[in-house]
Amino acid sequence: MSRVTKALEMVVGAYELGQYDSNVIGMAAEVIAEEEFGMKKAPRGMKDVDGTWFRDGRDHTVQVKAWSEDRVKTYRQFTYFRLRENALPDVLLCILVYCSKPGYEIIYNGSPRDVGYVEKNGRDRVIRFSHMRTPEEVASILRGLGVEEKVVRPRRPNASRDPKAPVVESDSRKPCSICGVSFPVEEFHYGGRTTNSYCTSCCKLHRQAYNRGGSEGTRLFREEMRKNWKN
Ligand SMILES: [Zn+2]
Repeated sequence: MSRVTKALEMVVGAYELGQYDSNVIGMAAEVIAEEEFGMKKAPRGMKDVDGTWFRDGRDHTVQVKAWSEDRVKTYRQFTYFRLRENALPDVLLCILVYCSKPGYEIIYNGSPRDVGYVEKNGRDRVIRFSHMRTPEEVASILRGLGVEEKVVRPRRPNASRDPKAPVVESDSRKPCSICGVSFPVEEFHYGGRTTNSYCTSCCKLHRQAYNRGGSEGTRLFREEMRKNWKN
């Protein structure tokens, strides 16, 4: 059995034991980087770099980011990570590792400088799923995970607008207050009216967060989601 197959089966096994897959997906992603991309592992304890690989006559530093299937199902097009801007690797390899079956998907393999944006503090680069793939590709990968999702290119935050002012766009769209994406007002049905402030998919995730962790769970969910677009 190949090392990759072994690693992917460990992820599935860890998930079956009780959603322990997040403990092993980093390992699986590094094994994929070694076996499929020829990455040489960095010595233990090295920060910001997981390894190096040789391309075009020189060694490139590589950072491997692993996403679990559950994480992507929860945060969808907004799944993200941060990299320290002053310690960017030459290559960013982002891998979605499945837990319902042995398998993975390469989300990104390229320069981290070409994706995401630098936060106002200048220290961190935020990179989202929707920054690394086209809306069509994101939607297709999400469909593969059983998530039907309207993938919209995230709006750039508009600095001139009062953040508290309700925004209803000319074609009767308004932004969801959780994910920040604009949808037609019909998306916000609530008791026969269209005054809900959460879009349909955020509503559903909000309910799930409540079932898992009560009002503290929903508060954390809203906070985490808003971090993705409010800055
Ligand atoms: Zn939403």
